[in-house]
Amino acid sequence: AEKSADGRITMQRINSATVSEAELLKALQRPSQKSPEAILKIVTPIIDDVRKNGDKALLSYTHRFEKATSLTSPVIKAPFPPELMKLDPETIKAIDTSYENIKKFHAAQKEDKPLQVETMPGVVCGRFSRPIERVGLYIPGGTAVLPSTALMLGVPAKVAGCKKLVLASPPRADGSITPEIVYVAHKVGAESIVLAGGAQAVAAMAYGTESVSKVDKILGPGNQFVTAAKMHVSNDTNAGVSIDMPAGPSEVLVIADKDANPAFVASDLLSQAEHGVDSQVILIAVDLNEQQLKAIDDEVHNQATALPRVDIVRGSIAHSVTVQVNTIQEAMRISNEYAPEHLILQINDAAKSVDQVMNAGSVFIGEWTPESVGDYSAGVNHSLPTYGFAKQYSGVNLASFMKHITCSNLTAEGLKNVGSAVMQLAKVEELEAHRRAVEIRIKHMNGQ
Ligand code: NAD
Repeated sequence: AEKSADGRITMQRINSATVSEAELLKALQRPSQKSPEAILKIVTPIIDDVRKNGDKALLSYTHRFEKATSLTSPVIKAPFPPELMKLDPETIKAIDTSYENIKKFHAAQKEDKPLQVETMPGVVCGRFSRPIERVGLYIPGGTAVLPSTALMLGVPAKVAGCKKLVLASPPRADGSITPEIVYVAHKVGAESIVLAGGAQAVAAMAYGTESVSKVDKILGPGNQFVTAAKMHVSNDTNAGVSIDMPAGPSEVLVIADKDANPAFVASDLLSQAEHGVDSQVILIAVDLNEQQLKAIDDEVHNQATALPRVDIVRGSIAHSVTVQVNTIQEAMRISNEYAPEHLILQINDAAKSVDQVMNAGSVFIGEWTPESVGDYSAGVNHSLPTYGFAKQYSGVNLASFMKHITCSNLTAEGLKNVGSAVMQLAKVEELEAHRRAVEIRIKHMNGQ
């Protein structure tokens, strides 16, 4: 759906009953991304440069990309000076409220006690968790101010008990950093803020520089350069760093039925569409007639034209689509196939339908739950799998900042009970030392 001739901001419409499955899937395709190879060619030399030349290289890229040529040190260390976090009281209150809710929800994800199971008499298997010691949290910069992302990464890291939190975010052209981000960094007890973005920031945290602390895991969204850099360093076994998940442009899928308020539906679609021209929004309309569909279309157009970011919305709406279906089951089938980052249910008895959700990053249930509450303040995390990765990835959660360690503890009786199975499998795999590690003990027990 290109921009229509009359300038109306409107989504392409298809009817699932009259198109083939292939046509349906084609309409739901995410906007294509630049080829990963092309992006890798750009980021690899940047990563190598920072790995070899440290701060000097890091600063030079910040001078080039952020135009922050006055910046002389790439890091601010805690304690952060109060003058860097001067905020109006309303903003402080909003951050504090969100902080508490996010903390409550993520603290509740802690396991009550370590797992312990006796699989056979005398054979005890256990599992316990430990925080990842050092984490790097990337907060995208560019044009937007994103203290919410700092909260969504920093709060669970603190709750998990990570010892060292390093934030990274591109500075503004005058070399300064948004005070909201500094305030959040202060609240979560971050060790430092790296004033850099893109591949150079990722490389600095992955390898460490003279002034940037090396981390064990890098989390956070970002553009294609950031994502490619994260994937590149996580593939380098010498870096010893992992990442949260591949990130793509934001997206939402709204399922709406006859009772949905057209203005609410449109507002949810637009709140995603304003993220970026590469964002995608999908509406699945369950058994709506022409008049009801038009009511939503009108709302989309009217609300969109009143938005400051109307130009971005035009771009994203151009590759967005309304799919007409007859039943909730069909809507859910399509949604599970699309695996949306955000799924909004504006349908009767929405909570009941959650049982049918198989693939989604985060679900927003019922007409009083706009996605924006989850983006900022409800308590759920907004760092979520995009691009269909909700089929295999979870969004950021407490476990993203932890490792699980297993343990086993056997008595002599336990070893007797399980020993013959171990020895037989060791024999099959022709690993004689494995077999003997059991045999030597059993012989000892038998006084041989
Ligand atoms: P960013 O911080 O992701 O990237 C900025 C960096 O990109 C720069 O520091 C620079 O190093 C690098 N860069 C830019 N052009 C380059 C080039 N030609 N060659 C090499 N490096 C280059 O900020 P952004 O660009 O504004 O992107 C923000 C991203 O974050 C968007 O993709 C958006 O979808 C995503 N986002 C996510 C969330 C979220 O989930 N919390 C919210 C908003 C935005």
